[in-house]
Amino acid sequence: MYKVFIPFLILLIFISNLAASEGDEQLKEKANKLAKEILIIDSHIDLPLYLMRKDFNVTLESNDGEFDLPRANKGGLNGAFMSIYTSPRTENNGAFERADTLIDLVEELENKYPLNFTVAATPEEIEFNFQKGIFSLPMGLENGSPLEGSIDKLHHFFNRGIRYITLCHVKDNHVCDSSGDTTNIWNGLSPFGEQVVREMNKLGIMIDVSHGSDSTFYDVLQISKAPVIASHSGCRYFTPGFLRNMSDEMLKALAEKGGVINIFLAQRFLIMIFEMDMKSGEKNAQNTLKLMIMPKRNLKLKILLTREVFRML
Ligand SMILES: [Zn+2]
Repeated sequence: MYKVFIPFLILLIFISNLAASEGDEQLKEKANKLAKEILIIDSHIDLPLYLMRKDFNVTLESNDGEFDLPRANKGGLNGAFMSIYTSPRTENNGAFERADTLIDLVEELENKYPLNFTVAATPEEIEFNFQKGIFSLPMGLENGSPLEGSIDKLHHFFNRGIRYITLCHVKDNHVCDSSGDTTNIWNGLSPFGEQVVREMNKLGIMIDVSHGSDSTFYDVLQISKAPVIASHSGCRYFTPGFLRNMSDEMLKALAEKGGVINIFLAQRFLIMIFEMDMKSGEKNAQNTLKLMIMPKRNLKLKILLTREVFRML
């Protein structure tokens, strides 16, 4: 599965190199051209949850939610991991059924719009769909709660097409500790979590360390035989004290094991770099994470962030 990320990363490196010498408009033009030529996969989109709340036609442009096909086409996106998200509230409280229902909704997209969408579970399928101009829908499980302590259930989700699992969300669960929680009950992975990581390696499901605590991250790195991903994370360097983002040491350790971080562009998680940039490069900007509002679609910010990440790796 790692293959699918490579073109995306190449695109980012290329864009970051262009940034220094060209103006915004020229840069945008080149980025748009590249985006049309290269296979680009988003590693985390929350469409299934939106569809569960409100049924809408995703082949029509809208201002709602994170995704519709016309906007994806405009940006040159060729596929997106559908996030099969279950809230921490569903731990021991219906998570398995909820995840199954969300997977049904992704499959329904393919049934409703067969010319537009195909559920995909391998890099080859994604390449094939790209050549045919069909949008690929691989799937990732966000939060390990639906596993409900059962390796059989892990197999069930693999058979249903899940190709990465974010081990937890913002609360510790029975798989591992979360960066968003303070209880630290396992000090990393639980004994079941260790078993899950080993079995995911065997099955070929990517382990996603986004949302995990630092101790979870290092446990996973130690146990996993395959490189791991952070499907939607940021850099703590730019957001001091915000544990949801990864430290420089973690990024280096991730890279040493062949792993990949996919940077989210959610404004509230990137805000510190904006403040740092605007205040003449001060590295220790105040943490006003929740207070500041960043202009939408700040291309300069994305480029700056990308360049910084690759410099560090
Ligand atoms: Zn998330």
